[in-house]
Amino acid sequence: MIAPPAVAPSHRKPSFWGARWSAFRFPINGEKQALLRDRWNSLLPELRTPNQLAGRHLTHCGFTTGASYCSFRCTHCYLPDNANEVPIPSLARMQEQIDANRRFQGPGGGLQITGGDVADAYWRTGRQSELVEVVRYAVGVGLVPMLMAHGQTLLEHPEFLEALVIDGGLRQVAVHIDMTQAGRHGFLIGRIKSESDLHPMREAFTQLAQDIRERTGVPLELAHNCTVTERNIASVPEVVRWFLADPARSRIWRILSFQPEANTGRTIFSRNPVTPVGVWQKICDGMGLKLDGSAYLGGHPDCNQGTTLLVERRRVVTCRFCLTT
Ligand code: SF4
Repeated sequence: MIAPPAVAPSHRKPSFWGARWSAFRFPINGEKQALLRDRWNSLLPELRTPNQLAGRHLTHCGFTTGASYCSFRCTHCYLPDNANEVPIPSLARMQEQIDANRRFQGPGGGLQITGGDVADAYWRTGRQSELVEVVRYAVGVGLVPMLMAHGQTLLEHPEFLEALVIDGGLRQVAVHIDMTQAGRHGFLIGRIKSESDLHPMREAFTQLAQDIRERTGVPLELAHNCTVTERNIASVPEVVRWFLADPARSRIWRILSFQPEANTGRTIFSRNPVTPVGVWQKICDGMGLKLDGSAYLGGHPDCNQGTTLLVERRRVVTCRFCLTT
């Protein structure tokens, strides 16, 4: 690794291009290098594999918890039974969590704002401006927040998303869309027979992000989260093909993440649970390619793997497939 200069040449704020040149020359600052060393040294020897990312180029992402509220009732929810009775923490408590993440991750660390659907939770309690402040605070301390959501609230109240983007500095939203969801307006769980029945919902979020981009000039990006169970595993290839069918989609949706069902929280487990190997095969079927599912390891090889692709259409864009459990 290249060490950053011991003494900053100037206290003046660098110009746009000056900042980029500096980031090119010194992509990992001293604080981050020390954290990476600690993270790497803390890994078990058998996990120090050549394609292990955490501890090398990133400290991986952390998260905040707290709201533990969601108006949906998905069959594979990770929340506890008393979820909707847990009060939203105060802003000060959220800031404490963010500060702890900043110490642990260093600058540029990813931060998932999660605990149910936080947009849903803050909207229903009339505390929208507080969530904007949570995001703004995370950006301010040097983290990269990602809002984890089913997204229905943002879809129905795009001005809330716009405030999060403009006033909070939000750039990433992970949207959970799949057949396990009970609560999506206009999409009754009993009537959804295939993931392709939910493509209009995927299209609606694509449009939402595009509209926000056009209105604000901010490159808002989405990630697609999909829980895979025995009920929808056969239609996983349809999800992959939907993303590839239009280059505009892969410019908005930058990560496709498939999570084989895990027996956590309020999960109603499949009679014949799916396996990570079976899910990866379906992703490959959708791509029409045999992909190396261990091209990168974000965490433990048994529970966090994926690959990054270049999708070439009129413009080359990158797309990442993840498999997490
Ligand atoms: S899985 Fe997510 S969207 Fe579904 S009920 Fe739980 S928190 Fe809500």
